Amino acid sequence: MTADLSTEQARERIRAAYDPTLLRQAGHVLVEALADHLATVQQGQGPVLPWHVPEDLVREAGEVRDQIPPNGNRAALVDRFRRLLATMLERGLNLHHPHYIGHQVPPPVPIAGWFDAVGSVTNQCMAIYDMGPWATAVEQSMVRRLGEQIGWQVGEFSGLVTHGGSLANFTALLTARNVSLPDAWERGVMTDGRMPVLVVHSDAHYCVARSAGMLGLGTGSVLRVGLDSQRRMDPNRLDELLGDLRKRNQPIVATVACACATPIGAFDPLQTIADICRRHDVWLHVDAAHGGCACLSARHRHLLTGIECADSIVWDAHKMLFVPALCALVLYRNAAHRFEAFRQDAPYLFDPSAPGMAEYDSGMRTVECTKRAAAFGLWGIWSMFGPQLLADMVDVTFEMGRALYEKLLAASDFQALHEPQCNIVVFRHVPAGMTGTSPEHLGRFQLELRRRLIQSGDFYIVSTNVDRIGALRVTIINPLTTTRDLDQLLDALRAEANRMLAEGLA
Ligand SMILES: *Cc1c(COP(=O)(O)O)cnc(C)c1O
Repeated sequence: MTADLSTEQARERIRAAYDPTLLRQAGHVLVEALADHLATVQQGQGPVLPWHVPEDLVREAGEVRDQIPPNGNRAALVDRFRRLLATMLERGLNLHHPHYIGHQVPPPVPIAGWFDAVGSVTNQCMAIYDMGPWATAVEQSMVRRLGEQIGWQVGEFSGLVTHGGSLANFTALLTARNVSLPDAWERGVMTDGRMPVLVVHSDAHYCVARSAGMLGLGTGSVLRVGLDSQRRMDPNRLDELLGDLRKRNQPIVATVACACATPIGAFDPLQTIADICRRHDVWLHVDAAHGGCACLSARHRHLLTGIECADSIVWDAHKMLFVPALCALVLYRNAAHRFEAFRQDAPYLFDPSAPGMAEYDSGMRTVECTKRAAAFGLWGIWSMFGPQLLADMVDVTFEMGRALYEKLLAASDFQALHEPQCNIVVFRHVPAGMTGTSPEHLGRFQLELRRRLIQSGDFYIVSTNVDRIGALRVTIINPLTTTRDLDQLLDALRAEANRMLAEGLA
């Protein structure tokens, strides 16, 4: 009898959690709170980063978690939801603040989050078509649209969406490995007693070296091609290296070029690199995680000339297509390569009675089995605003990169470290009192200056090293950031530096 009673109580608690009226009421709270929050943040009110030391936040998250209301009736639950939500919004980084000029992660077009929310609440997963039919259709339609933007014909190319650019690069390079070394999937990578190499841009993202480790090549098999004066892959050196490798019969998995490379946003001369790779019969992979967006912009399309000759391309929608993380595309020029990454059967997933469905079972192509419906946000904003909005955001943010560069050139106390090709700008602040200091000291000063600035909540920017010396780095990836904000950034850096000098910290 007691068993029945406790089952009934369990059912009662479960019903309360699944109550659609609770969802409705909490949803109204959510919509109001998020809209109010963005209205404030987008006007630049409040801190960009409400800085707290991590241990304090971990403790707070635990304390909040344990304050479960004893009487979980619906009104109490809605109230509880309201307070949890307020805490989440108060403690997070405000990417929509015009003073967020930090990493290559955008403030997404907010409404993209609503499309993602539909996928989350109804749990439209992928792996096999029937688990997420609309999610699959949306993903494939976006692969087709973006492949067309690259310059390919629908039907000839293929692609997939995966959980981020790192996994996307790994997946594309796994395909390159299996095509370039046809026995690798079953027998491993050693070919005639030789370890194959991966030829990469010297500034390639660290996930490329990780991929080499994960692909069984070893990071020692990564050969870095030298750069030109603008930190682009030097095609002459690539040509020499590939020629030399071919002469020695060294197996080559792929060449990895960048559009653009992360440190200063340099775009490789893709047409020349593609011609060289074709001449040496080497797979060309282009990591366009950040810069793929340029093909949507009439003004910046030229940065990607030749990208259509790549065998595989990675393009992060959660960067410059302004959707929430994670959504990254892998594109293959030749559709025949779409199943090469994983030469495997999983009979319980893939139904031999309907072999044509494999085309729509994403699990055949991805590391993930269960996969989040990652393209809803992208499909949603594309369907509401069209590609013009994305082109506008690329144009405006790239233009702000240029504007910041010009301000740095005009200021005697700032050094621009390169001429930007996009919205990534790297520079140093050199206050009048520090002109004679050593490069190492000046580099350490940049890192300290950046840390103090972000902890003040006034701006969020990033630091990096250029030739092992610290520097400041911004990605103007908030389309709401204006030249006025950029002027304020320079002034905020000056003011913080002056405080450091006054405190004897510099
Ligand atoms: C951001 C970036 C990556 C990593 O992508 P994630 O989505 O962060 O995993 C790889 N390569 C380049 C060129 C990038 O800009």
